Amino acid sequence: MSEANHTKQPTRTIPYGRQHITEDDIEAVVETLQSDFLTQGPKVLAFEQAFAAYVGAKYAVACSNGTAALHLCTMALGVNEESSVITTPITFVASANCVRYCGGTVAFADVDPATALLDINKVRQLLESKPKGYYNGIIPVDFAGNPVNLEEYRQLADEFGLWIIEDACHAPGGYFTDSKGRKQLCGNGTYADLAIFSFHPVKHIATGEGGMVTTNNEELYQELLKLRTHGITRDPNLMEENHGGWYMEMQELGYNYRIPDMLCALGISQLHRAEAGLARRKGIAKVYDNAFSGIDGIKILGTSPEALDADGNTGHAYHLYVIQVADRKGLYDYLRQHNIFAQVHYIPAHTMPYYRNLGYQKGDYPEAEGYYASCLSLPMYPSLTQEEQEYVIEKVKEFVG
Ligand SMILES: *Cc1c(COP(=O)(O)O)cnc(C)c1O
Repeated sequence: MSEANHTKQPTRTIPYGRQHITEDDIEAVVETLQSDFLTQGPKVLAFEQAFAAYVGAKYAVACSNGTAALHLCTMALGVNEESSVITTPITFVASANCVRYCGGTVAFADVDPATALLDINKVRQLLESKPKGYYNGIIPVDFAGNPVNLEEYRQLADEFGLWIIEDACHAPGGYFTDSKGRKQLCGNGTYADLAIFSFHPVKHIATGEGGMVTTNNEELYQELLKLRTHGITRDPNLMEENHGGWYMEMQELGYNYRIPDMLCALGISQLHRAEAGLARRKGIAKVYDNAFSGIDGIKILGTSPEALDADGNTGHAYHLYVIQVADRKGLYDYLRQHNIFAQVHYIPAHTMPYYRNLGYQKGDYPEAEGYYASCLSLPMYPSLTQEEQEYVIEKVKEFVG
């Protein structure tokens, strides 16, 4: 951009993420509103099947939100007061809270400063510090859309007898290449026991509120279905008694974590555009990469090497585009003055008052805290225009330069 040719300030505010709703989306919802089903109708299963196909998993269970998806997973895996589960401090708090809902203990491990992903070496150190059997599971997060190398986590988990829940909220359509050269889509269930997604408006696929669990494990799939609706089964093959057509059995304590049919109709419609949206996200990332690489004072958050395939394609799903700067608050405030609402992902979970009351302290995870001190997520969503992106780049450079 030349000095003489400053980009005009766009009239609307530029958030870090926003949903994209088309006429087709609206029509799909209206059609369902006019049907016989508002909650558990045909769109739920249709959305589950379409989503499972999209991420390459055998089974999918749609539910009310991503947090409910996480809670369904910890319940299905039997987390209880005796359980200890490892996760990353650089995530949305729900990744840790789902362990607490079941009374379990959250054990954080520090992140790799290059990517802000959970550091597998730190996880190993933690596992080796206790007798085998002390820890029950790991919840790695595909943070920012950068895929976790789950093949490595599977090896570690098998060595210590752990299960894995992949928090793939940031990474529908993301993938890494495993040691055999196979493309492994986030949430495909090859290495993780369960994976979860969210359809909150800032995520790739938006239904307002909504979530999904994917798995290749049929037993867990059946359990999730039951827990999603009060622990009730209507399947005569699974019931202890049968009194007639009305009969159902509540076999354990579940919840109402159902998602309405009209939101699933919206999800199906959005899923049709998922690939195009992902391609646009990658395009936006490339423009930011070109604009910021080699600039003193701006560090672009790194991508895990296995996310890049031999042809130079990236499996990074770019939910977020994160840069790191020394004066993060200064940059955040400067952008805000110019109507650009960048955001910080995330305040380390262990520094939240709730987790500090459980015994964690500031200083416990220096890499996570160092990352937090400098990170800023720039606007990243498919409907961000080229002009808006140029304006964001100009303002960032103006401040840093
Ligand atoms: C959004 C998100 C969640 C929670 O999803 P909700 O649908 O908002 O409950 C969990 N984990 C991560 C990493 C997320 O980004």
